[in-house]
Amino acid sequence: MFFHLVLTTECNLQCKYCFGETLDDFDEDFSGLEIEYSLPKKANYGLKVLADFCGKDPNCVLTFYGGEPFLCTDEIKKIMDLVKSKHFMVQTNGLLLDKLDSNYVNRFHTILVSLDGDEALTDFYRGNGTFRKVVENLKMIIRNGFEGELIARMTVMEQTDIYKQVTWLLENSEFTFRSVHWQLNAGFWGSDYLRRDFKRWSEMIYSPGVARLARFWVDQMEKKGVVYKLYPLLGIANSLLSREKSLLRCGGGWVNYTIQTDGNIIPCPTMWGIKDYYLGHVRDANPLGLRKLFVKRPCTDCDVLEVCGGRCLYANITRRWKDEQYAAVCNTVRELIKAVDTELPRIKSLIKKGVVSQKNFEFIKYNGCEIIP
Ligand code: SF4
Ligand code: SF4
Repeated sequence: MFFHLVLTTECNLQCKYCFGETLDDFDEDFSGLEIEYSLPKKANYGLKVLADFCGKDPNCVLTFYGGEPFLCTDEIKKIMDLVKSKHFMVQTNGLLLDKLDSNYVNRFHTILVSLDGDEALTDFYRGNGTFRKVVENLKMIIRNGFEGELIARMTVMEQTDIYKQVTWLLENSEFTFRSVHWQLNAGFWGSDYLRRDFKRWSEMIYSPGVARLARFWVDQMEKKGVVYKLYPLLGIANSLLSREKSLLRCGGGWVNYTIQTDGNIIPCPTMWGIKDYYLGHVRDANPLGLRKLFVKRPCTDCDVLEVCGGRCLYANITRRWKDEQYAAVCNTVRELIKAVDTELPRIKSLIKKGVVSQKNFEFIKYNGCEIIP
């Protein structure tokens, strides 16, 4: 099982799509769900409790999460010293990566670092100076011997040109990534749809950009024999090549859970405080026996469910966007599938010729990349 471990609810940034939206959405109705707003700022259930919990699952994978997890470097060290985990991963804004000793950093299997693209765009969403500091830290961890997977994790909304920004992350001279994941800021907040331009942008700019990116992705396979881990494209291509039917691809609520700061277990980090979905407490729950949750309508009636997987359990339950508004998000899913499917004959031909191998499309699932943006 995979577990996101929320070490702290505090963050050292105030990003537009997170902190900014919280201010605008304050006091919104939450679909009749009972929400606990007063969770402890730091994990309060004790190290031994966590060690005993993870000890019951030989395949336990822990992903440090927040807030910003590197505000808790002492706790991270203690956990990495004492808790048995098959892998340790972390999702971070990258600003404090220099605060953890390299012998711990080098033990991470995967680091997902929040960057939205180039310097101008990252700083626009995340605050001036963010990009430069994060890139300096990334250069430092590589110099210090980090060899795990480094994934640029973008949050995407109307100011983003997806083609330009993803290709920039892969090809710029500052710092190049081979792994990129992006997530749409869509369906998370209750009142943002009406003040935004999501539908027009997603149809006119985002989806055509994804189709162009899929072509670029396969061009790179052709020219360089390299399959960049562009997770939304990679995950779909992997399923289409192996004819796999997918469940919710982030794993939220069925193979990937989250431990809140108070020790309650929830389906995914975004569902913090939703008491109706508390699935047990880390003190006495069995990690292998947790209740499984799956998306309901409209996903269960959808003709692309087996490829999409349902996109987001949180959105499916909380219905922050009305059905007709959320349809614009589903349209992006259809366009993404179409973009990959269009390139599939070229991919198959490259595999047949031995330019790339089907193995290159494999990846560690539930690593924090939700696949469907
Ligand atoms: S496209 Fe939309 S309705 Fe269909 S499965 Fe995905 S999220 Fe659900
Ligand atoms: S896609 Fe939705 S359910 Fe999955 S982790 Fe993200 S917010 Fe949670």
